Amino acid sequence: MASNDSRRLAIWPDADDTNWNDWKWQVRNRVTSLDQLRALIDITPEEEAGTARARGRLSMAITPYWAMLMDPDNPKCAIRRQVVPLSDEFYVDPTDMLDPCGEDKDSPVSNLVHRYPDRILLLATDLCASYCRHCTRRRMVGTKERIITSGNLEKAYEYIKSNRKIRDVLISGGDPFMLDDSKLEYILKTLKEIPHIELLRIGTRVPVAMPMRITPEFVNMLKKYAPLWISIHFNHAKEITKEVKFACDMLADNGFVLGSQTVLLKDINDKPSIMKRLVHELVKIRVRPYYIYQCDPVRGTSHFRAPIASGINIMEKLRGHTSGYAVPTYVVDAPGGGGKIPVNPNYTVAQSKDELTLRNYKGYIYRYKEPQEQVVDKEEKIDIGEKSSAESA
Ligand SMILES: *Cc1c(COP(=O)(O)O)cnc(C)c1O
Ligand code: SF4
Repeated sequence: MASNDSRRLAIWPDADDTNWNDWKWQVRNRVTSLDQLRALIDITPEEEAGTARARGRLSMAITPYWAMLMDPDNPKCAIRRQVVPLSDEFYVDPTDMLDPCGEDKDSPVSNLVHRYPDRILLLATDLCASYCRHCTRRRMVGTKERIITSGNLEKAYEYIKSNRKIRDVLISGGDPFMLDDSKLEYILKTLKEIPHIELLRIGTRVPVAMPMRITPEFVNMLKKYAPLWISIHFNHAKEITKEVKFACDMLADNGFVLGSQTVLLKDINDKPSIMKRLVHELVKIRVRPYYIYQCDPVRGTSHFRAPIASGINIMEKLRGHTSGYAVPTYVVDAPGGGGKIPVNPNYTVAQSKDELTLRNYKGYIYRYKEPQEQVVDKEEKIDIGEKSSAESA
């Protein structure tokens, strides 16, 4: 601890506890240059070349808090690999895409992505605490660190207001927790006033990348907009420090439902043992593992992509082997804009009208006999949205 404190002060001479615990100080003092990085880690040639070239779109930014968690001597450190650019980012694989999930084509007005009939994604800012090198939205995140303009916000509200089918708004970005309390409150308040909005959600990495942002005042503000569900981007058990635990405790104690979103990353968390440790640490801090995402084919991220088979292998080794609450859903966000599609190990060995043959997590075979009289009501129609039926027509 003492040695860590002195290391911290050697790099940021004004990093006393007051400054360190002030999130705005963290933002102002982010690591953005090669020289700063050299002071922190024993930099490799690949990191040096990557950092020198990572300018403009998704340039490097690392909060001092996160930077101090990086292993200075190990370039394979999971914390370090997520934020330090490598020259590999400039390799464009034939499978790479700029907008892999087709978000731009599902954007009826700017800053909104409307893919599912009953819920919508609002991109409130392109700011993040630290920039993840594997970011799905790297085409738009961290470019000029722009916050949604009030004009665009107004248009987004109008769109949501005029679409009565929308009951759930997911506020993401970038990272909405990077906004000042008053700015975020304005967004939450306006959305909450729309009568057909039943649920607000926030997607954030801030509780992990900059846990000091979760202050009592901030939590009290958020509390007014319950029910508010918060999905937090966690990729590795090493991210769960006492500071992160403290932030998540504060959120959970105040009634927010916390979920995690994890990106499957090659050589970072693509082993069952590593993922199991992560989900166990998450349930201990009252964060319910929600999704594991197959890493989207974003331009410049092929070095992060593990094969689908490794994701399925992880699911195989979680389901049945640990608490059901610790098992997330593994999904592929379908390239081209099909939405999130679950990918699972196959537990159905055979299926007929009378019988289902299943295997369990140990590989043993079981038979479920169907009743003689079978009534399945398939008549009820579920709205899949006008757009998708038009597309398939
Ligand atoms: C992920 C996502 C949602 C929310 O999906 P859930 O499965 O309900 O969490 C909504 N809209 C878009 C465009 C998304 O990518
Ligand atoms: S926090 Fe999210 S939006 Fe920001 S860089 Fe990381 S993955 Fe991208």
